[in-house]
Amino acid sequence: MNTFPLFFKFENQPVAIIGGGEVAQRKADLLKRAGANLTIVAPKISTDIYALLGNDKQDDKQRSTENKHQLVCETYDKKWLVGKRIVIAATDDKQLNKQIYQDAKALNIPINVVDTPHLCDFIFPAIVDRNPIVIGISSNGQAPVLARLLRARLETLIPQGYGKLAKLAGNMRAEVKAKIPTLTGRRQFWERAFEGRVSELMFAGREGDAEATLRQDLAQIADDYLSPVAQTPSKSASTHSTNGEVYVVGTGPGDAELLTFKALRLMQQADIVYYDALVSPQILDLCRRDADKVYVGKKRSEHAVAQQDLNQLLVDNAKKGKRVVRLKGGDPFVFGRGGEEIQALQAAGIPYQIVPGITAANAAACYTGIPLTHRDHAQSVKFVSGFLKAGEPNTDFAQLLDPEQTVVFYMGLSALERLTQGLIKAGKPANTPIAIVSHASLPNQRVLTGTLTNIVAKQTDANLPTPAIIIMGEVVNLHQTLAWYGDDIAKLSQQAHALNMV
Ligand code: SAH
Repeated sequence: MNTFPLFFKFENQPVAIIGGGEVAQRKADLLKRAGANLTIVAPKISTDIYALLGNDKQDDKQRSTENKHQLVCETYDKKWLVGKRIVIAATDDKQLNKQIYQDAKALNIPINVVDTPHLCDFIFPAIVDRNPIVIGISSNGQAPVLARLLRARLETLIPQGYGKLAKLAGNMRAEVKAKIPTLTGRRQFWERAFEGRVSELMFAGREGDAEATLRQDLAQIADDYLSPVAQTPSKSASTHSTNGEVYVVGTGPGDAELLTFKALRLMQQADIVYYDALVSPQILDLCRRDADKVYVGKKRSEHAVAQQDLNQLLVDNAKKGKRVVRLKGGDPFVFGRGGEEIQALQAAGIPYQIVPGITAANAAACYTGIPLTHRDHAQSVKFVSGFLKAGEPNTDFAQLLDPEQTVVFYMGLSALERLTQGLIKAGKPANTPIAIVSHASLPNQRVLTGTLTNIVAKQTDANLPTPAIIIMGEVVNLHQTLAWYGDDIAKLSQQAHALNMV
């Protein structure tokens, strides 16, 4: 270990930063967050530093109007280092930085000369801040970019609610210690809290419920300890806290990278997973390895598991104490029947969470360069089901005639001919641009563009497979210039090449 990580309490501690530019500002920002009293010394101090520190009052309770920080617009003088806990040299003058280093050494004050590892007594780590949980990552100045990348990975893994969870635990620590006499008992109690419903409630932003549940668990366990017959308090408490729950999770259009952090976290807690046809194998792989994975997909017209039976399965498993994850392609509340599942859970009193996902329309739009709205072409967008009900498109065409509105048809491919004919008959111009996007956002994405008149013939030739979504409106023309993904790029660069050859 070349450096040793310590977590220093800077609250109200004097710190000097020499320098008044951007680098100084970044350090000032960090140290301000840690509560330090900063002295900034530089002939010129940036307005950003003034904005950051200019109005940070000493102590609100004392109604002091004095700034907690000192901004000194002067050339450097050693006197500003005296009495400081640490010093940061952040000037762009190498000679001066060296001078500050020597002065700090003479005063025996630890110093960091920014971006100069050999003149640093300590290092600013890359920080993951879930106060009071704080993680510092250092490469001892060897590879700060690598440390930052590692930090980014940790940021994605650690839910924002961790800080609040730690604060709650901190607040209840003494109480728990008083009620659970053994160290093992306390460890088990906290493990259950942090891996179970209490943390889930906290991560879902329900702080009050999290605390209430924790208190309930504690009361139950304390009762067990008091009861002369209960020899195994931890067992009875664990039965108590294994209430099942259902997570209805939108998985987006298929690319695992388009999952949300929350989706991934809940997927990794699953005891049982119900998934449908639009959920890709890569996404399924990200669920907890030991979870049972059950296919309940529906293809058009054939239902693998009837919706009602599925609702019942969710309820039954949750009642058995399982964490049930219901994975749905795209967004659960966009043509996903998520509403019906939630109604069933609500009726049975099962706790649930719903996680939004990127819906196919959004994925198709972004991955084909067809903006759904555009100042010049479309002021609104409509998501419509093109699904055939009793042989007819389930669509009121009169509502789709606005030339400044983009219309996206889900489940419309098999009704393409009826849709296009119906629209033309209702008065939509026959040359209205339209695009079919198959496997949006996936490596096998394909796009077919045309007009209401010719798209059917084009699709008969091209035979783009499902799942496919249809986008209609002026914005489709932008695909020509804004396409950037997959096959489109190859096609467009071929076109450009061909034009140059002419
Ligand atoms: N809840 C889903 C929609 C389910 S309905 C969502 O929010 O995306 C099923 C329809 O979604 C399909 O018929 C198709 O029109 C569309 N769809 C889903 N995934 C798609 C994809 N990757 N590419 C194109 N269309 C897709």
